[in-house]
Amino acid sequence: MTPALAASRRSFLQLAGTGLALSGLGMAPTSAAPARALPHAGGPVLLNFNEYPYGPSPAAQAAARDIVASSGRYLFGLAGELRDLFAQQEGLGKDHVRLYPGSSEPLNRAAVLWTSPAAGLVVADPTFEALGDLAAARGATVAKVPLRADGAHDVRAMAAAAAKVDAGLLYLCNPNNPTGSITPAADIAWLLAHKPAKTRVLVDEAYLQYSEQRSVIDQVMQRDDVIVLRTFSKLYGMAGLRLGVAAAHPDRLKELASLGDNPLPVTAMAAGLASLRDPVLVAQRKADNARVRHNTVGWLGQRGFACVPSEANCFVVDVQRDGAAFSAAMAARGVVIGRSWPIWPQRVRVTVGTEAEMARFREAFEAVVSENG
Ligand code: PLP
Repeated sequence: MTPALAASRRSFLQLAGTGLALSGLGMAPTSAAPARALPHAGGPVLLNFNEYPYGPSPAAQAAARDIVASSGRYLFGLAGELRDLFAQQEGLGKDHVRLYPGSSEPLNRAAVLWTSPAAGLVVADPTFEALGDLAAARGATVAKVPLRADGAHDVRAMAAAAAKVDAGLLYLCNPNNPTGSITPAADIAWLLAHKPAKTRVLVDEAYLQYSEQRSVIDQVMQRDDVIVLRTFSKLYGMAGLRLGVAAAHPDRLKELASLGDNPLPVTAMAAGLASLRDPVLVAQRKADNARVRHNTVGWLGQRGFACVPSEANCFVVDVQRDGAAFSAAMAARGVVIGRSWPIWPQRVRVTVGTEAEMARFREAFEAVVSENG
């Protein structure tokens, strides 16, 4: 980069911080309209990691910027404030909540603590693979139980599998990644009543805010064998800021914490607090996502491409040909979609982006389909 270019990029980034650069482009952020995410403007459309395309809310962005000057300190008090607000909003005791820099961290810790060659893991297939991969690498037997045809976890088969592999842990992602499909609360209740006593249940609610489903987070106040994870990476648009929550009985939280401390980025804490305090953010983003998703899934359905019913910011579509080749052809047209899972080689995951991004998705999809017959 030339010095002049570097300077203009720097000043643009500084302006972007004030919102002036956005308004100069006719894209001024307001609290109602989400700010445009700038980094990929003009580049490929990224529909591959289930990110929120507009990033943190304007208030969260401002809070993160404002706290940078204080980031020479750990600000542990802020972490307490955030934990207390989360606990209060969810009706949990403060001692049942622990914050992490993202939900990947407690997920990884759960695999390390509660799976081993002597304690298996039960997961759905397909589902988010991080936990299963880590457990398998540690020598645990991983039982993969196919989702039901409606996309729900097959809790009866999972309970049976838990008994068979002497599971220390069972992973239930609701809504599920990659499908966005729902497992009804009644099924989760059945699972909790019928699983083996030694099997802990980790419910990953990374996408819950997009759905119409009730959280099962209240279970952690009643039982010591349920861990619920939340993240600020999805609906709150904070994937790159890193903030996640583990909710569980204090004994389980203590076990998770036994693997070491890792203080939170202060920018994430400030943005997280601003997000929790926003009374309309969840409803607005959820409605936006549902509208764009319905339009896209409806468009695909009219052309004969079926999707598993989704209540999240991603869906899986049956492209009726090799999914990896299809994704590559989409990428060649500037639209980067997600991948296929081995159980469904002809289906691909797609993240729900903005209206404009999904228009580019439709164009590319149509072109790839007509190219390949
Ligand atoms: N859980 C699920 C279901 C996910 O899809 C992801 C990320 O995509 C994560 C957890 C981890 O997210 P993070 O570490 O950003 O909170």
